[in-house]
Amino acid sequence: MKLDYTTFVRSAPGRFIAGKTGLPQPTDLPRYEDRAEPILGPVLVLGTSDETERIAEQLLAWDGDVRRHGDDLDRIGTIVVVLDEIATPTDTSSILRGLPAAYKKMRVGGRIVTISRTADSPEPAVNAARAGVEGFVRTLAKEARKGTTANGIVVDDGVALTESSVIGALRFLLAAKSAFVSGQTLRVSAPGGGLPARWEAPLEGRTALVTGAARGIGASIARTLVRDGAKVIILDVPAAGSALADLANEIGAIPIQMDITAADAGRRIVDELTKRDLVLHVLVHNAGITRDKYYVNMDEERWNSVIDVNIAAQLRINDTLLDSDRVGEEFRLVSLASTSGIAGNAGQANYAYSKSAVMGMVAALAPILAERGGTANAVAPGFIETDMTHRIPPVQREIFRRSNSLKQGGLPVDVAETVSFLSSLPAGGCLGQTLRVCGQNLVGR
Ligand code: NAD
Repeated sequence: MKLDYTTFVRSAPGRFIAGKTGLPQPTDLPRYEDRAEPILGPVLVLGTSDETERIAEQLLAWDGDVRRHGDDLDRIGTIVVVLDEIATPTDTSSILRGLPAAYKKMRVGGRIVTISRTADSPEPAVNAARAGVEGFVRTLAKEARKGTTANGIVVDDGVALTESSVIGALRFLLAAKSAFVSGQTLRVSAPGGGLPARWEAPLEGRTALVTGAARGIGASIARTLVRDGAKVIILDVPAAGSALADLANEIGAIPIQMDITAADAGRRIVDELTKRDLVLHVLVHNAGITRDKYYVNMDEERWNSVIDVNIAAQLRINDTLLDSDRVGEEFRLVSLASTSGIAGNAGQANYAYSKSAVMGMVAALAPILAERGGTANAVAPGFIETDMTHRIPPVQREIFRRSNSLKQGGLPVDVAETVSFLSSLPAGGCLGQTLRVCGQNLVGR
C-alpha cells in the first residue's frame, strides 16, 4: 500500500494528529473531470458599475445561479467582485462590505475572482484604489480553505469587460480547470481573438505542436489540447520514441522524434508542417531539463546543457518558424517557465536563469506577435508531481509539496489546462505574461 503524507493525513488517525499539531491538511481539489460545468453555484456577484450587470448576465448565460446578495444563502460556490470603476480606496470598501460573511460560506473548490482595472493611472487616488486589489486578492488566497482559490483579472483601460479576452479569462478562473492557480492576477490588455464556436472544444480547427511531449507535463498538455479539439503534433527525443508512439496512438497525434537542440530543429519542424500541408496555430515549448548543482560546483556542461534545451533552442526554433509561411492566424506561443525562475532555488542557478529567460523571451515576443494577431505567454509551474520532481530527495520534496497555500503538489493536468487556456482565442488579450500554476507558492512573488 502506498503510504505518503496525503494518504496518511486523510485517514482518521491522520486527521486527528494533523488537527492537534497544526500539520497541513490538503483538500482533494475538484478538477475538470469532477466538474465540467464552468461555474460552481450559487454565484454571488458584487459591484455597482454598469459592467457588473453585464458580467452577471454572462454568468447567467453559463447557467449560473446568480445572486446579487449572499445573506439568504447557506453556501456559496463562486464570488465575482467587479471593481472596474473604483476611484478611491473607500469605493472599494463599500463594494466589499458583504464579502467576509459570504467568504465563510464557500463550498469545497470554491472560486473568488475580482475584476479590476490595471494600476497604471496617473491619478494617485485611482491608482491606489486599483493597486490595492492585488494585495487583497493574494491575501484572500492565503486565507482560503477547502481548495478555494482567489485570483484577479486586471483589465487595461479601454478594454470593455464584455470583450472575449475578459470573458475567456473569467471562465477559466471560475472553472475547475484552474484548480491549482491561486493568488494570481491575470492582466488583460487587448480585446482578444473572439469566443470559440463551442466552449466544449475551444481549440477546434487549430493545430498545435508540443515539445517534450512523451511524458509528464508535456504528455498531459498534448492530451488536454486534443480533448479541447486541436490537431496535435507531439515531439520528443529519439530515446523517448516508444513512449511518444504510444501517446500518439492513444490520442491520435502526429509524433516527431527530434532533439530540439539540433541546429536544424526549426527547419525540420517547418518541413514536417509543409509536408503535411499544415500551418501551426499553437506552439508549446515544454521540453525542459534540470542539471542541479550548487553554483560554486557547477561545471560548464551542466550550465550549457540546461541553457541550450530550456531557452536557446526555443529562440532558434521561433526564429525559423516565424520566418516561414507555416504560422497560422491568431498564433499562440506558450513556453514553460518555473517558479524557480521567479523566486530562485538553491542548486538551480542554471535552471533559474533559463526559466527567467523564458519570461523575458515571451515579454519581448508579445509585441512582435501582436502585430500579426498572435500572443506569447509563459506558464510557471510550482511543484508538480512528475518524474522531474520525484527525483528530489524525499524530505525536501515533502517540504516543496506543502509550501503553497493549497498545501499539496499540483498535477500535470493543472499546467495543461492553463496552457490550453492561453492557447485559446479569447486569451488573445494576454500579452507577454507569466501565469503561475503553483497553488500560490509561498516563496517569491
Ligand atoms: P519531464 O522530465 O518529466 O519531461 C520532459 C520531457 O522533455 C521529456 O519527455 C524529455 O525527453 C523531453 N526533452 C528533454 N530534452 C529534450 C530535447 N532536447 N528535445 C526534445 N525533448 C526533450 O519534465 P516535466 O516535469 O514534465 O516538465 C515539463 C516542463 O515543465 C519543463 O520545461 C520543466 O522545466 C517545467 N517545469 C516542471 C515543474 C515540475 O514540478 N515538474 C515545475 C516547473 C517547471
